[in-house]
Amino acid sequence: MTARRVYMTTAIPYVNARPHLGFALELVQADALARHRRLRGDEVRLLTGTDDNSLKNVLAAEAAGLTTAELVAGNAAHFADLQVALHLAFDDFIRTSTDPRHQPAVERLWRACVAAGDIYRAWYEGRYCVGCEQFYDADELDSGRCPEHETVPERVAEENWFFRLSRYQDQVEALITSGRLRILPEFHAREVLRFVRAGLQDFSVSRSRRRADGWGIPVPDDPTQVIYVWWDALGNYISALDYGTYGEAYRRWWLEADERVHVIGKGVLRFHAVYWPAMLLSAGEPPPTSILVHEYLTVNGRKLSKSLGNAIDPEGLVEQFGADSLRWWLLRDVAPTADTDFTVERLVARADSDLANALGNLINRTVAMVNRYRGGRVPAGGPGSLAGLLHRLPLDVDAGLAVYDFRAATGAVMEAIDAANRLVNLTRPWELARSRRSAELDAVLAALVYACRRIAHEITPFVPGLALSAVRQLGDGGIEVRPAEPLQPRLGPPHGGELRGSQQA
Ligand SMILES: [Zn+2]
Repeated sequence: MTARRVYMTTAIPYVNARPHLGFALELVQADALARHRRLRGDEVRLLTGTDDNSLKNVLAAEAAGLTTAELVAGNAAHFADLQVALHLAFDDFIRTSTDPRHQPAVERLWRACVAAGDIYRAWYEGRYCVGCEQFYDADELDSGRCPEHETVPERVAEENWFFRLSRYQDQVEALITSGRLRILPEFHAREVLRFVRAGLQDFSVSRSRRRADGWGIPVPDDPTQVIYVWWDALGNYISALDYGTYGEAYRRWWLEADERVHVIGKGVLRFHAVYWPAMLLSAGEPPPTSILVHEYLTVNGRKLSKSLGNAIDPEGLVEQFGADSLRWWLLRDVAPTADTDFTVERLVARADSDLANALGNLINRTVAMVNRYRGGRVPAGGPGSLAGLLHRLPLDVDAGLAVYDFRAATGAVMEAIDAANRLVNLTRPWELARSRRSAELDAVLAALVYACRRIAHEITPFVPGLALSAVRQLGDGGIEVRPAEPLQPRLGPPHGGELRGSQQA
């Protein structure tokens, strides 16, 4: 297979507070997908960043007695810190208020849509949720409240600039039905199609500068208005590729990429699957090719959110349990098509059963036995009875990730780990050693080292820290292994009481 060129992004969260676990899920998913594609030889560029220009940031700064720039800079730093904490291999991080690439690109996109005749001025009255930065129709509200934030939207009436979304209804529908824009899981594609077929309405793409408190990007040639923050935020995907100057990065990673992939949460699906492709079509630019949609994490059944006040600090979890344990829980336990409830007990139980017991035990006893029985030299030989399973392993991982199913992909790895552990229990190498059945012992040890090395390779996108440590002990393909050392400590049972640093006001 020839290498493909893949551009991949997360959504950019607004930074009115520190990052919560729900965004860590998105980061880890995107990182695992990018690492996996790189492992298979594809060329990948991975972007994340922060949406600094949201009205919510202005309000949060007012509440905290800071300037918006101060609040945003402080919180954006925590988002950037997650890259180290969660072992994320991003190529780029964009902050929409400070990155010099951003504003020229947003303006260019605006002007391109103006040139296409798709931006016009009109009076608007509606119900606006500041949390969502979105107008709602009455029938979209739950008993008059925002379905995301459970707050009553404010009534807003002002003259704004509008984008002629209605013009792109057929084109957006065709993108999705033809598969040129893939939306996964499948039921989200159907949901978007229902929305599109119900009729697309033009939407407001600017706010009065007064209401935005001067924060945001001014509308080109109209200083009384700032560009709607969603327009601004969506623009980050190409502003980070120097679309503003129509430069080399834009050509390479957008125009000429084989895949343009956005990993997002279900709450922002409409912006990414409808508005964003339409904006790009209007500007004469190619739309994304894939939108991968994750569900939400809950704590005690309630959505994790900054505004609902039950956010869990991913950095605190990493400090306490390690990046690999948190990554593994997010990839192994989080359901692809329904919300998943987070508890510390679940994280600990999953890490202990899969990483400490199954994987850690396999690597540890394999390396220890090669040291004890063969002086650290790996006997010659192949995968033996594990051959079929190990041949299938990368194919199964690929198949799972191709449909954005991390449970299937990590499940394939677990199947191989379990099979290798069963081989140890079945062949009992310690008895082979005692009874001097040397050829049989060689074959088993060779098969186990072979299996461990394959598993360590395949597990790299999911738990890069553990994989590295496993590869080090296994000798990275050489004829010798290193001394055995524990791969992953058992974490449980968790101590009672509040998880330090986990709750936010
Ligand atoms: Zn809302």
